[in-house]
Amino acid sequence: MYYTGERKAMSTDRIAEMKARIPMSDVVGKFVALERIGSYWKGLCPFHPDKNTPSLTVYSDHAFCFGCKNHWDIFSFLQTHQHKTFPEAIDWLTSNLSSLPSIEGIKSQYRSVDPTIPIPYKI
Ligand SMILES: [Zn+2]
Repeated sequence: MYYTGERKAMSTDRIAEMKARIPMSDVVGKFVALERIGSYWKGLCPFHPDKNTPSLTVYSDHAFCFGCKNHWDIFSFLQTHQHKTFPEAIDWLTSNLSSLPSIEGIKSQYRSVDPTIPIPYKI
């Protein structure tokens, strides 16, 4: 369990769900101008002087910088870039990316249609 506050607790399932469902580019793209190149995104790295050639490469579930050799997931990017604690990063993701459907909503949607259809999302 990850504790997000005095009373709120978050299960590891919920953490995994957020990582699986929130595109890394949605998070990084809130702070860094990104250019799509095929299946990934490129941008100037905010963590080192990156003036000419974009070194920050953003994949679906993580980002990597070829300049400073750091890598991030949606949580560690917010922790590093926005100086947030892990619980604050979760709160930020919940409030800023709340348009994403909840996994519960998706599950019940699929189950109401046909309970034998496998859920196409890794939980
Ligand atoms: Zn960098």
